[in-house]
Amino acid sequence: MDALFSIPIMSVFLIPVLSSYSTSLNLLFFYMTWSTLVLSHSRLRVEMFGTIAVRVIFYALPSIVFFLFDILTPSAAVLIKAHGATGLPGGRRRRKIHARELKIAGWGLFNLFLGIAMQGVLETILVRTLGKRSALKVSMKLPMPFEICKDLSLAMLGREFLSYFLHRYALHSKLSPTLARWHQTWYHSLSAPFPLTAHYDHPIPYLVTKFIPTYAPAILFRFHMLTYILYLLFISVEETFTYSGYTVMPTTLFLGGMARRTDMHLLMGGSGNYGPWGVLDWILGTAVGELHSDEETGDEADERDMRRAYEAAKRKAIGSGNNTAEQPLYSFIENCVKTRLVLYFIVHA
Ligand SMILES: [Zn+2]
Repeated sequence: MDALFSIPIMSVFLIPVLSSYSTSLNLLFFYMTWSTLVLSHSRLRVEMFGTIAVRVIFYALPSIVFFLFDILTPSAAVLIKAHGATGLPGGRRRRKIHARELKIAGWGLFNLFLGIAMQGVLETILVRTLGKRSALKVSMKLPMPFEICKDLSLAMLGREFLSYFLHRYALHSKLSPTLARWHQTWYHSLSAPFPLTAHYDHPIPYLVTKFIPTYAPAILFRFHMLTYILYLLFISVEETFTYSGYTVMPTTLFLGGMARRTDMHLLMGGSGNYGPWGVLDWILGTAVGELHSDEETGDEADERDMRRAYEAAKRKAIGSGNNTAEQPLYSFIENCVKTRLVLYFIVHA
């Protein structure tokens, strides 16, 4: 841990944001801090601690705070949940932390660090065992803004493409029944997403559908470590909010849309919305919770989606053998009807 504290790694994130110097001075300070970090530590350490720092600051910590907010103040949290009490950990209002929710949160964090460990193992094998160059570039030379923009755009597209196809054909098809069963019994046992569920799944489906789509584009384009930090920062913020189940978002249109698509993937039993951004779902016609055809009216689509969501929630309640599941089920239907009615009046006002 000494690398994290002895070298001001945090200033790599904070210098451009907090200081009041001019842009050139900021850049100079930033370059000096980055150079010191690269010169004084092994490249593998810089890569690992950089990855851990960005994941902890922008995903793990805010998600833990949101999770505790949901658990400790359910009456306040329910007010900003898109699906009411169904969106709370455990699917209903209660102030007691249950073992199942803690287990889900624990697995979510375990998977996050499992992915980082996989990244470390891969780099160690490449550099120390095979004597090849590292998968990510850790060099003193800073990447140019154009290079950063180009790499980020390509990687985001690659991530969308890989996430969509792996999620749809490895986790929701008969091509790989074992993976599909694991994904179904782990992630799809949830009533709705809540904080820390972005990385919750059986570890193997998690590596296939989360770790590979995130990491593969970065090593394919051999990202500079700073570009990788920026890339992970965007993904971490996106995952924190899209799996929170909240209606309050930094950007309602972009993150809010992604969050509702993530909810619908779970509520509709995995019948669509396989990609994080929804671009391929829209192109390939697997978007759920939206209009599908010109002939179908909004009311028909709403009714059909509500019915499917209701049936999916019912199947889960029966499958879990939990009689008390009736309460979240009713509250979910009630909230859905309320949301649809409000939207209807807004649209037709
Ligand atoms: Zn799924």
